[in-house]
Amino acid sequence: MTRSFNRLKRVLDLEAQQGYQNKAVVGGIRQFAVFWVEQARGEAADELDQALVEQIADALMDYGRLPGPEARQKVIRSLQDSLQRREARLGTAVAQKPAKPSAPPPEKRQPPAPPAPEPETADDFVEEDMEDESEPEAPKGRKRPSPPPMPHVDPDPEGLARPTTSLKGVGPKIAQNLEKLGAQTIWDLLLLFPRRYDDYTLMKPIKDLVYDEQVTIIGTVWETRSRRVRGDQVLVQSIISDGSGTIQATWFNQPWLAEKLKAGMQVVLSGKVDQFLGRLVFNSPEWEPLEMEPLKTRRIVPVYPLTAGLNSNRMRDIMQAAVSYWSPRVPEPLPADIRERQDFYTLPQAISQTHFPESQDTLYHARRRLVFDELFLLQLGMQGFRRDWQAQPGFPLVFSPDALDPFYESLPFALTSAQRRVIAEIADDVTRSIPMNRLLQGDVGSGKTVVAAAAMLMAAKAGAQAALMAPTEILAEQHYQGLSKLLVPLGVNVCLLTGSTPAAEKSRIYEELANGTIDVAIGTHALIQAGVQFQRLALSVIDEQHRFGVDQRQALRDKGVPTGNGAANPHVLVMSATPIPRTLALSLYGDLDLSLLDEMPPGRQEIKTRWLRNSERERAYGFVRRQVKAGRQAYIIYPLVEESDKIDAKAAVAEYERLQAEVFPDLRVGLIHGRLKSDEKEAAMRAFYSGETHILVATSVIEVGVDVPNSTVMVIEGANRFGLAQLHQFRGRVGRGVHQSYCLLIADNESAEAEERLSALEQTNDGFVLAEKDLEIRGPGEFFGRRQSGIPELQMASLLDMEMLTIARDEAENLFRADPNLEDPEHRWLAARVRQFWEQAGDVS
Ligand code: ADP
Ligand code: MG
Repeated sequence: MTRSFNRLKRVLDLEAQQGYQNKAVVGGIRQFAVFWVEQARGEAADELDQALVEQIADALMDYGRLPGPEARQKVIRSLQDSLQRREARLGTAVAQKPAKPSAPPPEKRQPPAPPAPEPETADDFVEEDMEDESEPEAPKGRKRPSPPPMPHVDPDPEGLARPTTSLKGVGPKIAQNLEKLGAQTIWDLLLLFPRRYDDYTLMKPIKDLVYDEQVTIIGTVWETRSRRVRGDQVLVQSIISDGSGTIQATWFNQPWLAEKLKAGMQVVLSGKVDQFLGRLVFNSPEWEPLEMEPLKTRRIVPVYPLTAGLNSNRMRDIMQAAVSYWSPRVPEPLPADIRERQDFYTLPQAISQTHFPESQDTLYHARRRLVFDELFLLQLGMQGFRRDWQAQPGFPLVFSPDALDPFYESLPFALTSAQRRVIAEIADDVTRSIPMNRLLQGDVGSGKTVVAAAAMLMAAKAGAQAALMAPTEILAEQHYQGLSKLLVPLGVNVCLLTGSTPAAEKSRIYEELANGTIDVAIGTHALIQAGVQFQRLALSVIDEQHRFGVDQRQALRDKGVPTGNGAANPHVLVMSATPIPRTLALSLYGDLDLSLLDEMPPGRQEIKTRWLRNSERERAYGFVRRQVKAGRQAYIIYPLVEESDKIDAKAAVAEYERLQAEVFPDLRVGLIHGRLKSDEKEAAMRAFYSGETHILVATSVIEVGVDVPNSTVMVIEGANRFGLAQLHQFRGRVGRGVHQSYCLLIADNESAEAEERLSALEQTNDGFVLAEKDLEIRGPGEFFGRRQSGIPELQMASLLDMEMLTIARDEAENLFRADPNLEDPEHRWLAARVRQFWEQAGDVS
């Protein structure tokens, strides 16, 4: 449950043992931090934890730059302390529950109950007990506290749409800075939520202060001195006393403070207790005069993202002004019944409490509401797409029930029952006048191509056209060859259209698509170019979903053409080889029906997978050599993260040259990477396919679909840099023939996280198991690649928040049934929010 924290603890202990050399982790602590923070964010138990994660990450990122072992020791010690306090805190929270030995441990994503005050009456006990009884897992631990009352004012959407410059104190310069943070309007500003919080609600007398705690003190300024150090640096130091003791506070480079912190003044100081020469001190604490409304002391203080030119005090002032005046004027988009049913704050309350929370509890409930809103808007958008899609008539395909028999008979194998089931689902859809909108999920090698062929044949047999769009030319070409083999003998006219199709051929294809001579068009994005007109496109198949965004799906759909009366939408079949856990698929592709190829064709072999140390590379080469001698072929993959990056391409070229010249001089090595022209790529691919080259050095362009049955070894260099899903895809390139196949993973850095991924790959060949694992490790943002998913960026919610996802989906479906077009006056703000939310997705791509 808190694996990441345990791992951190081990790393810190080890680093301490080794004398703070920054060597506890290969690649350094910073490298570790990058991976660690991702996972730890997902495992944070509550808000405090989240803040802690960010703080730890900040500290670790700078670790390598610290001046020496002493400074490092200090950081490591304080982190160790933080972890210990965390344990104590979470431990107490659990122990506070009424004695119930069998109670389940707190769910990882649910914040533990806050250390509640002693129950005052017996009734309280009973209530809590009953809740535990009926719903052991529900996060009912937190009674929803009423947030402070808000002024009753009318919503003012026009006002919220004004530029930030209309706020007092925000001139063009600051507005520019705010824009860098993504806020152009006042509404944007309200949605610019704190990055984390400093909790200064703990107040203590000076004599009880403890090193490293975040705390607030109230005292009197005894004396203030300023002095110059090293060049023009100015140090301001005050002695503060509260009767129980005194403490020194120091500020750097804020010379004006010397004037402000006058002797005798009553002040509030909030900050982290530090130490200097054995004595407790404050360094750069927040401070306010005692008589002021607390904004940055004595409370949970928001910490905002900053850019140059906007310091945190300024930012907080702006926010404070904007939130206090404008949050009550935010229109409430949620219908009252949903709010009551789910016990939500109003949106104004949620926004205000997220910025300036009264307590950890109100913060929790504020975020709960905002998380819901995001997921709810996501769901409503999806349902809306589906409705829009299905509002237009589809293209009911008419073909005789035995029209596909010759196709089945021509196959060299029997279909799996999963393939038969999915083909039946598709047949059922395409014969209707509502356009199909289906996602076909099947692991690598589960046989999606045959299913696509069957679907396209249905279109052809009904006298209509079908198109299949693939993300790369190589893949399109391969589909063209495979599908031609299946379909041409049955009298289907198939063409290939890609960016590199010669002009003359292209214009012939355009003509034959328009006049209906071509039945099935296979291609790339070239298929959705403006010039392409189909005579009667009835089915669009899109391969490898995760490479296409929502827009592109839409573009291919839009190639549907007028039938007798009005436009008809083609049926759409989206094929994905990235196994997505079902709940998540329903959330992300809520506009699609789901078909699952959950059965592998018989005789599919396990690909033996080994994770080798960096030092074992020679063994991998030896293995490749032996396999080639036995007549097989091999891939060697290099981790080029961004295909557009020239430097990466160069690295692959260099490696290729080294391998050819020094390691395998007697074998033929080929090279393929994203920087090659498409005819060069094709030539390299063809040479490998025909066996002309023995070893293909490749970048991730090889990831999807390509099929060379004679290849039996997949060596993946820098395997730690790829995601699980991608590694699984690579691995799926081998084991496609009759020979035993192997996958060798070589990591250039053995971070704990990479370790987890690579050993998962060693353990299973099952794509769905790996997908679950991948989600667990990386979270869905990384899993899909934000730009590719085509959904709006979520600020608050995690797509892993299954409980909230389910609630949001149910409520969205409910609402959609009652008012699909959101026309009810009560839903007008909601309709506006949905539009706004989804516009943002358009911006991303
Ligand atoms: P993917 O789902 O990864 O696209 P393919 O459609 O490329 O998988 O199929 C992988 C391999 O399995 C192909 O060589 C294909 O001919 C073969 N295949 C598909 N269906 C079956 C089946 N039912 N029985 C045996 N082999 C099959
Ligand atoms: Mg495929």
